[in-house]
Amino acid sequence: MEFIQVIGAGLAGCEAAFQAAEAGHRVILHEMRPHKTTPAHQTADFGELVCSNSLKTELVNSAPWLLKQEMRRLGSLLMNAAETARVPGGHALTVDRAIFSAEIHRTLENHPNIRVERGEVESIPDSGIVIVASGPLTSDLLAADISRVTGSTRLFFYDSISPIVAADSVDMSIAFRASRYGKSLDGTDDYINCPLNKEQYEAFIAAVRTAEFYEPHIPEDKTPFFEGCLPIEEIARRGPDTLRFGPMKPMGLIDPRTGRRPWAVVQLRQENLRADSYNLVGFQNHMKFGDQARVFRLIPGLEHAEFLRFGQMHRNTYINAPLLIADTLQLKTAPRLFFAGQICGVEGYAESIATGLLAGRWAAALAEGRPLRPMPRETALGSLCHYITHAEARTFQPANITFDLLPPLDEEARHKLRHDKKARHAEVCRRAAVAFEEHLDSEPFEEHLDSENVAPVLT
Ligand SMILES: Cc1cc2nc3c(=O)[nH]c(=O)nc-3n(C[C@H](O)[C@H](O)[C@H](O)COP(=O)(O)OP(=O)(O)OC[C@H]3O[C@@H](n4cnc5c(N)ncnc54)[C@H](O)[C@@H]3O)c2cc1C
Repeated sequence: MEFIQVIGAGLAGCEAAFQAAEAGHRVILHEMRPHKTTPAHQTADFGELVCSNSLKTELVNSAPWLLKQEMRRLGSLLMNAAETARVPGGHALTVDRAIFSAEIHRTLENHPNIRVERGEVESIPDSGIVIVASGPLTSDLLAADISRVTGSTRLFFYDSISPIVAADSVDMSIAFRASRYGKSLDGTDDYINCPLNKEQYEAFIAAVRTAEFYEPHIPEDKTPFFEGCLPIEEIARRGPDTLRFGPMKPMGLIDPRTGRRPWAVVQLRQENLRADSYNLVGFQNHMKFGDQARVFRLIPGLEHAEFLRFGQMHRNTYINAPLLIADTLQLKTAPRLFFAGQICGVEGYAESIATGLLAGRWAAALAEGRPLRPMPRETALGSLCHYITHAEARTFQPANITFDLLPPLDEEARHKLRHDKKARHAEVCRRAAVAFEEHLDSEPFEEHLDSENVAPVLT
């Protein structure tokens, strides 16, 4: 039996390798770390989370929840690992990144169908089924070869990492624990909140605006930031109050010392199970490290913060998916090649895992000579693939899963539920679950999913 080769043991690659191996195929999983690393990875671990430790919301009937439910239903390795590694994170699925990676590592290293090969893949193997899952920080040699194979130049945008501080360096006589609107899955106060009054906020904005920055790798006017992950200095540049309506919004938080809502708030989210480190939520930036320490210590509660990691900015590489790949993630001109993860034009951890999961299953189907069936458009998985392969190619930007990507409800349902957004979202999720189950029922190879351990989408 020929090997299926997966390039990159990141989020998408690990899930893809697992799915293909579980379907009975022999898989070679290539990973260049530790021999060569990326500007963002810090370990040689599989499935390393390079920035935040959150896989987004678990609120029932939200779009990110639906995507995760569909992955769970398809037996996702990384969703299982996330469950094992879960730490308190309000309504988000937040994990201890070390436990998360260890769990993935253990499963893949011990899988009888998987062989791990460490070392940089410099070019796409010229025969056999290959899943390219080398991520937003694909090595330069491989990126050049992807350009050659796809016949297009690379695309870039900048992405970023939030700073992390030691928990015991936060002044808890100023900062307070609370989840926004008290929304935590288990009723606990998962976030540490640093409150700012108007004067403190204005001083902070002035400091951000005058800080020194690392030079971007491409000229400033050609830096296409991803709107969902803007650096704070870019948000501050857009207007004095823009940060207060973005990552520093105080909504749903009351400072227990004043009994009032602060003017602005910086939220800190738990990083690991030991709860000894916290990240500054949404505080990605590319200020010089010395300036980050100076500017962030202006935040009340962080005056003596010990920084375990500073924020950073990085290039992001992705292909022009609408031009190049089919909705089964296969390169149109060479269907033996699949693209998965951030490089195929999705944005986010869960979205990367999702496309890895599908690529792994479809690679297995291709190896068996079975037809490759796209997921129904009504599902989150189907809509994600539909977006990246049908968006406007000229202005294509990676996307997170949102309800905007799913088809609208029919006229009658829209009218009936026009005053109730929650009910509309619930209906979209119900419709997705029905389409999803019908799709699985019509698949001849889904017996292994009937196990009691696999939940239906809508639980
Ligand atoms: C700096 C940064 C911060 C981000 N922060 C977040 C965040 O907070 N939340 C979020 O949801 N998303 C975030 N993202 C976006 C995205 O979700 C992550 O990058 C995610 O890890 C993408 O998964 P992936 O599997 O596509 O790539 P990765 O997880 O990066 O995996 C790719 C793997 O391929 C390996 N590799 C690369 N080239 C080669 C080669 N030539 N040969 C062999 N191996 C190779 C790499 O070492 C890596 O292990 C961030 C992205 C970046 C760049």
